[in-house]
Amino acid sequence: MRLLVTGGAGYVGSVCAAHLVDAGHTVTVLDDLSTGHRDAVPDGARFAEGDLAQIAGDVLGEGVDGAGYDGVLHFAARSLVGESVARPELYWSGNVVTSLALLEAMRAHGVPRLVFSSTAATYGEPEQVPIREDAPTRPTNPYGASKLAIDHAIGSYARAHGIAAVSLRYFNVAGAHGRFGERHAVETHLIPIVLQVAAGQRESVSVYGDDWPTPDGTCVRDYVHVDDLAAAHLLALDHARPGEHGIYNLGSGAGFSVREVLEACRAVTGHPIPAVTAPRRDGDPAVLVASSEAATAALGWRPQHTDLARIVGDAWRFTQHRLSLV
Ligand code: UDP
Repeated sequence: MRLLVTGGAGYVGSVCAAHLVDAGHTVTVLDDLSTGHRDAVPDGARFAEGDLAQIAGDVLGEGVDGAGYDGVLHFAARSLVGESVARPELYWSGNVVTSLALLEAMRAHGVPRLVFSSTAATYGEPEQVPIREDAPTRPTNPYGASKLAIDHAIGSYARAHGIAAVSLRYFNVAGAHGRFGERHAVETHLIPIVLQVAAGQRESVSVYGDDWPTPDGTCVRDYVHVDDLAAAHLLALDHARPGEHGIYNLGSGAGFSVREVLEACRAVTGHPIPAVTAPRRDGDPAVLVASSEAATAALGWRPQHTDLARIVGDAWRFTQHRLSLV
């Protein structure tokens, strides 16, 4: 297929773009490089640099080799929860306004398929775990709210305009795919922060609360390998049906506490990784674990790399590779 990958210079976008190129698709990455990296665009993909809202129409209108695009995978977004609370305007414009422009461009140019990068943050504080897709959506921050708004817009476009759409709600994405991995200027995620300690770039890691109602008192999350996530996107492209909007959670279905992640990182890196207990972080639910049964049933998706040591090991190899470049 001829595919446009927005945000394909970012973490999940670059890994998916690499998988798509490897699978033989014709890939164009569109990215403004605000948080992504030019060298994360995989070899074999075309690259269009610019603001999504401004150039999506031109890129889709131009097509590839005289033919129109068969689909869009939409990763481009702002994704920092704390920033979204402090500066919501960035999320309503950067996520919602741009996505609406993309949907309009797709409609104008008759692009039939869309796979959207949604999030567990659309659910907010869960009433039940594991979280299923029919759980109430009550996001607790503008980041989750902006992604939920886009999910609603996609659903209505799918029904009204016949687009075949799938939203994939990621839980905690982790790991790396060779030289493609997590490289944020401002790092807030647990595993990369812990690995920065192991790499000598930080003194210690703060554990945000050790008095949560969980077995060891630290928060439990569902870490899903970025390669498994990419596999789900390829399956979603194949299973998307015109006029329908499928929504699927993507997690490994297993929960690991912050302490368990720390232990796995110590075992993988051989570094003691000092940890300091810190106050709870605003907006953190105690436990977030996905039910991915719907993705298994509808897409045939089964995560392959659910072992925490494997996930951390791939992220650590990526961290060491980055260090070898500086
Ligand atoms: N966390 C932590 N210290 C850090 C970063 C994260 O204790 O420096 C905890 C955080 O409170 C949460 C878990 O690790 O319980 C995963 O956080 P992350 O930011 O990686 O993902 P989130 O679950 O917020 O999407």
